[in-house]
Amino acid sequence: MTDTLHILGGGMAGSEAAWQAANAGVRVVLHEMRPTVETFAHRTGDFAEMVCSNSFRSDDDEQNAVGLLHWEMRAADGLIMAMADKHSLPAGGALAVDRDAFSAGVTRAIKDHPLIETRYGEITELPKDGHWIVATGPLTSGALAESIRSETGADALAFFDAIAPIVYFESIDMDVAWLQSRYDKGETEEERTAYINCPMTKPEYEAFIDALLAADKTEFHEGETAKYFDGCLPIEVMAERGRETLRHGPMKPIGLTNRHKPEEKAYAVVQLRRDNALGTLYNIVGFQTKMKYGAQTEVLRMIPGLQNASFARLGGIHRNTFINSPTLLDNQMRLKSRPNIRFAGQITGVEGYVESSAMGLLAGRMAAAEILGRDLPPPSYETAMGSLVNHITGGAEAKTFQPMNVNFGLFPPVEARGGRRGRKDRYKLYTDRAKEQFTAWLDAQPK
Ligand SMILES: Cc1cc2nc3c(=O)[nH]c(=O)nc-3n(C[C@H](O)[C@H](O)[C@H](O)COP(=O)(O)OP(=O)(O)OC[C@H]3O[C@@H](n4cnc5c(N)ncnc54)[C@H](O)[C@@H]3O)c2cc1C
Repeated sequence: MTDTLHILGGGMAGSEAAWQAANAGVRVVLHEMRPTVETFAHRTGDFAEMVCSNSFRSDDDEQNAVGLLHWEMRAADGLIMAMADKHSLPAGGALAVDRDAFSAGVTRAIKDHPLIETRYGEITELPKDGHWIVATGPLTSGALAESIRSETGADALAFFDAIAPIVYFESIDMDVAWLQSRYDKGETEEERTAYINCPMTKPEYEAFIDALLAADKTEFHEGETAKYFDGCLPIEVMAERGRETLRHGPMKPIGLTNRHKPEEKAYAVVQLRRDNALGTLYNIVGFQTKMKYGAQTEVLRMIPGLQNASFARLGGIHRNTFINSPTLLDNQMRLKSRPNIRFAGQITGVEGYVESSAMGLLAGRMAAAEILGRDLPPPSYETAMGSLVNHITGGAEAKTFQPMNVNFGLFPPVEARGGRRGRKDRYKLYTDRAKEQFTAWLDAQPK
């Protein structure tokens, strides 16, 4: 018998990782603290509990990056997708599931697997020896989080996300916006033009503040605290504190000259900063928000230059434990300082049931390959799974790293017409290319 793989956390990622590794022939012990120790969001002791919505989002594998991730996980015999399909509910183009039947099905499959043992109880420290995958999710218990923090450093572990909306570069109107760093700071031309600037006149600013104050906001979940308020206030809270607050904060216009209208001084400026090495995604600096998604798109498109913005992800603030993966993990998802430990799931800085399960699938296969003495490179970053793991383990800007959903902005661009009109063809090219690459990755592995 080969070495045992220990998996910490029986959520979306941990369950999928256990399934993949056991199916590769590796003995697995899956550790889960529920129901002995509870979290504020989980209700049961089942594996892969869906803590909030019962949706796996779009199931369109030709036009949507999440749908493509579904396709890849199905192709890799994923347990989460198999159970989601088995217990699906009618939901138009989305994949919604009967949550209790789904997690009961995952639990049964794990318990029935001859190579998986389950152990209940909280693990409070990062293990020293053996092969491990840590998949304890956004609500990692306090003691374990503390242990992760002492291994990785205080700045490398976050307890809240503060996500500013992310915009596809191609959807920004560069006839209105311009590239410039404040006071033209920087040694190189690239640094001096690191930001995209969107100018506002006084009436535009006033209308924007009115819309912000009137917009629908999301309430905090029970058990979430407002500690994050230090240093990352939601923009609507800043606006509530005073109509000028934003103009003296993230929207200050100083040190910037409108390249299109040098003689006009902007009353306020919204800045966007590059969010990935590819330069396909830009985040709106300092614009973390609790506005509801519908309200967000409406309000943000009032910003000149963003009137046709497409959003790779919208903003949010949640209780969320995650590590700074771009600095801490290698491309095998191993902790650089302790390579016997892999991380998977939402704690790596991906976001959502599907993305978390996908990272579990990958970590499970990689850990099994290592135990069995094989090499398993990550899938090409032209695939959904590969683009995500590439993003968290190096493609993302480490300094501003925040959790990410899968989206086509993480993929290397395809040769196709830009803009809204070309979108359908472009997305099809992305998904065709990904399917080919993912199939090749699977075919190169022993069955
Ligand atoms: C309040 C809330 C609402 C959310 N709503 C949605 C949503 O609607 N849609 C969506 O896609 N995503 C949502 N998410 C994100 C969602 O949690 C993740 O997408 C997904 O569950 C992450 O999978 P995971 O396996 O990484 O973590 P989880 O599924 O949370 O699994 C982690 C497991 O580790 C266990 N664990 C933690 N610490 C320890 C320890 N020390 N010892 C042993 N076991 C431990 C936990 O009990 C848990 O079972 C939400 C998150 C929160 C917190």
